[in-house]
Amino acid sequence: RGTMTVGDLAKLLHKDASEVIKKLISLGVMATINQELDMDTILLIASEFGVEVEVKIPVEEDTFETVEEVDDEADLSTRPPVVTIMGHVDHGKTTLLDAIRHTNVTGGEAGGITQHIGAYQVEINHKKITFLDTPGHEAFTLMRARGAQVTDITIIVVAADDGVMPQTVEAVNHAKAAGVPIIVAVNKIDKPDADPDKIKQALTEYELVPEEWGGDTIFVNVSAKQRLGLEELLEMILLVAEVNDYKANSDKRARGTVIEAELDKGKGPVARVLVQHGSLKIGDAFVAGNCFGRVRAMVNDKGRRIKEAGPSTPVEITGLTEVPLAGDPFMVFEDERKARAIADRRSIKQRQSELGANSRVTLDDLFKHI
Ligand code: GDP
Ligand code: MG
Repeated sequence: RGTMTVGDLAKLLHKDASEVIKKLISLGVMATINQELDMDTILLIASEFGVEVEVKIPVEEDTFETVEEVDDEADLSTRPPVVTIMGHVDHGKTTLLDAIRHTNVTGGEAGGITQHIGAYQVEINHKKITFLDTPGHEAFTLMRARGAQVTDITIIVVAADDGVMPQTVEAVNHAKAAGVPIIVAVNKIDKPDADPDKIKQALTEYELVPEEWGGDTIFVNVSAKQRLGLEELLEMILLVAEVNDYKANSDKRARGTVIEAELDKGKGPVARVLVQHGSLKIGDAFVAGNCFGRVRAMVNDKGRRIKEAGPSTPVEITGLTEVPLAGDPFMVFEDERKARAIADRRSIKQRQSELGANSRVTLDDLFKHI
């Protein structure tokens, strides 16, 4: 797999080496006959000569595309569900996220100072749940627009003293479009004018029918403010997770999605990443979007330094050379050289597409499998 020299390629294409070299020069690559070409250049030259080359590239190594990963059933183990909270403004998303964050029922890691790292985990009945803590639709929509699917379950918050509002409907539509199961949290039930049944009734119009009315949507009455119904909500999340049996292989190079990133004055570029497959370790060479990095330090949502992060774990990492974007794919490669090369190619590709599609058409081919 991988490389061949200019001479080898010429032979394969039934061309003179000098023709191949000329072609390379015309594409801005200075080469000699013994020079090793990488896969992309080989493909590019072949297509320039009108030859289609079939390449078999191990998906995991060379692509960010969300191709179904092929894992042996035996290598998979249960992972925590990843949950997003959506709903109309002022219906209590932020309050609910805060309330849940402080409902950490176990000892273990409790007592750590909670850090804002874009997501957090709580544990109930010895099972973990990961919450993305950017409420609202922005995170969800942005990530989906960038092709990232990070959410397993959506909680739609509806205030019991208000009703089904435009952003409630939007949230329902987003979740449905993404094929993500919905749990409805009817919030503010502490209010005197709360009318949970009205909410249930209104949502039947959007095919969200409560179980007690013969449907299959889970509704939970909560008060984020008074912390009522939170355990039930968490238990329902675990129930949905159990039914859907979310699994991942924790024993391979990490892959995930950037949830947030910023330039920190002291730490330099910082990325908050949700690990979705494999395990992320200190020292791992990775690409986040177009940025190269090597994990220097990892901090979890409790503010603790950790050495390894498995599937569904949110971590804050340092060791990047630049600041990636929210929703960017994140992937560990076997070594720094490889990771740098991929990051470079992705940057060039982006620059190319910014310059306009036809500035050098063939570059599209060059990068199409990244
Ligand atoms: P968001 O816009 O959906 O994030 O809503 P917030 O969490 O900011 O809440 C909006 C307002 O509703 C705030 O004043 C909260 O204190 C209040 N609120 C949130 N949850 C509850 C609740 O369960 N009961 C009551 N009475 N007020 C709540
Ligand atoms: Mg809010």
